[in-house]
Amino acid sequence: MDWDRSETLALAKTTCTHCHGDGVRPGRGGKPGPCNCVLRAIFRACYARFRYCATKEKYMSKVTLTLCAGKDRKLTWVRKDEDYVADFCLVSRRTLDELEYKIFRFHFLLGADWKLCCRQMKIDRGTFFHAVYRIQQKLGRVFRELKPYSLYPLDEYFGGTVRKGPSPQALNVTEMPKPYVAPPLLRTA
Ligand SMILES: [Zn+2]
Repeated sequence: MDWDRSETLALAKTTCTHCHGDGVRPGRGGKPGPCNCVLRAIFRACYARFRYCATKEKYMSKVTLTLCAGKDRKLTWVRKDEDYVADFCLVSRRTLDELEYKIFRFHFLLGADWKLCCRQMKIDRGTFFHAVYRIQQKLGRVFRELKPYSLYPLDEYFGGTVRKGPSPQALNVTEMPKPYVAPPLLRTA
């Protein structure tokens, strides 16, 4: 996919030594790609949303009526928060290699700090933090580029933007005959 420069600019770290706050770096074949600081920012935004959804009380989870752009375009009840939590975990599992996923699970899902992770997995501090960077960059890219529904931008995932038009059924509402309304009676004083 093509990355919009205005998007990378907004997400880039101003003090980044690689892109100098531009958010873009020359990629393979001369095609500009997002800087790692942009990918990490996307990951952080998705992770914050994941934690928010996952820690919210179950009963608070809203059921929203969403227009699904599927084949039959039916209106479906969707639990968006639960979907997000599930998608976040599923995509991460699919994207990361074995060691990365282990660290992801311990550190990001279970909340273990770097010391505990290093002790548990018998790795040194450098290995841990390099892996964390790699995890954030890999996932940041996938969360943004995922098709048909990316996990980022969040407002699009949570229904801020409807890309498809209204369902054909919605346009085919049969008009009912109007009820007969008797003209007001003339009152004589
Ligand atoms: Zn950068």
